[in-house]
Amino acid sequence: HRAPALARKVPRARSVPVHSSTAPSARGRGKLHACKSQKSSLRAAKLCPCWLDSAVPPVNSGFNPGEFPRSIVTLAGGIGGARFLRGLKSCVASHQTEITVIGNTGDDIELFGLHISPDLDTVMYTLGNGIHEEQGWGRQEETFVVREELKAYGIEPQWFGLGDRDIATHIIRTQMLNSGYTLSDITKALCARWNPGVQLIPMSNDRIETHVEIEDEDGRRFIHFQEWWIKMRAQTPAMRFVAVNSENSTPAPGVISAINQADLILLPPSNPVVSIGTILQVPGIRTALLQASAPIIGVSPIIGDAPVRGMADACLSAIGVSTSAQGVLELYGARKHGGLLDGWLVDPVDQGTQLAGVDVQALPLLMSDLEASAAIAGAAIELGCRI
Ligand code: GDP
Ligand code: CA
Repeated sequence: HRAPALARKVPRARSVPVHSSTAPSARGRGKLHACKSQKSSLRAAKLCPCWLDSAVPPVNSGFNPGEFPRSIVTLAGGIGGARFLRGLKSCVASHQTEITVIGNTGDDIELFGLHISPDLDTVMYTLGNGIHEEQGWGRQEETFVVREELKAYGIEPQWFGLGDRDIATHIIRTQMLNSGYTLSDITKALCARWNPGVQLIPMSNDRIETHVEIEDEDGRRFIHFQEWWIKMRAQTPAMRFVAVNSENSTPAPGVISAINQADLILLPPSNPVVSIGTILQVPGIRTALLQASAPIIGVSPIIGDAPVRGMADACLSAIGVSTSAQGVLELYGARKHGGLLDGWLVDPVDQGTQLAGVDVQALPLLMSDLEASAAIAGAAIELGCRI
């Protein structure tokens, strides 16, 4: 159905449950997931993420070897997802392949009364040629007049890089949310300008926020993921991540049907904990992936024991997973044994990575330019065809 016109006014929405950055349990917002192992050691915590522990029998792929996929579904965070998708788009350009992107909204934050969806915007701007290339997030030719003015007033927070061009997107999103549109509708409307060439769907239209439990001189508390990531640069160790309100959420319209109908499902090299891991916490998504007839191929975000960009190592250590292609492979697990993956791409420096039931292939995984990203995406498609 058609994207709503941006300026159209409809009555105000019912209020949505909104969570502040206090501990969700302390506010009685429903319980955190009920993993018994949470209090014990890191080793136990490794087994803890609830999206890993229920075994659903794998099904045979309905995707015929040698056939080019007509529909590809990917989950995606921000920069790692977006750069991979750019390569994927160029790979399928001469085919009539539909790409559906299920975007992480756990990073969403409300600042200055504006609803910001950093990962959805990174995908939209990157695929729509509006991204700041070097940074990998935010708009190209950005200016920061509003941020400077807010700073002059002493208004907090000052650590979030809100650019003037970017603010326009957030104003529209906020205005439409206040008018009763869903995040799916709004994303579609915003994409009408950017033409990303993929169907970009938020993982859920329910408000979900990733919060991080930390302990520092101010005590033990939960803070918003963005505060930990940007302001603290993930320097204070995370004790755990909680996707607040995820247990009450449902996948956005189109998410489950896209997974069910996909010929191929790809996990790009997005952050396995706070991007892919958060999407998997929306009830129904992980089960749909496990039951999908399409093969699932993942790309390692870790090359030679370090994330390529960002601080995914700090996220992985918080859940007791080693920062390695092997560690992330084990975290996702083999679909044949109740996990997610049929195939896994690693960089040649990580050759030797293996897990029973997963077809592992090595090729250079640095997405230094479009050509490199396309080669990685092409290898993922090829591996999917073979499985
Ligand atoms: P974010 O939401 O902006 O942090 O982006 P994502 O979650 O989509 O991706 C972050 C992950 O992308 C990080 O863990 C990086 O290691 C990974 N990444 C970034 N650039 C590359 C690259 O060139 N190659 C690979 N393999 N991973 C990358
Ligand atoms: Ca993100």
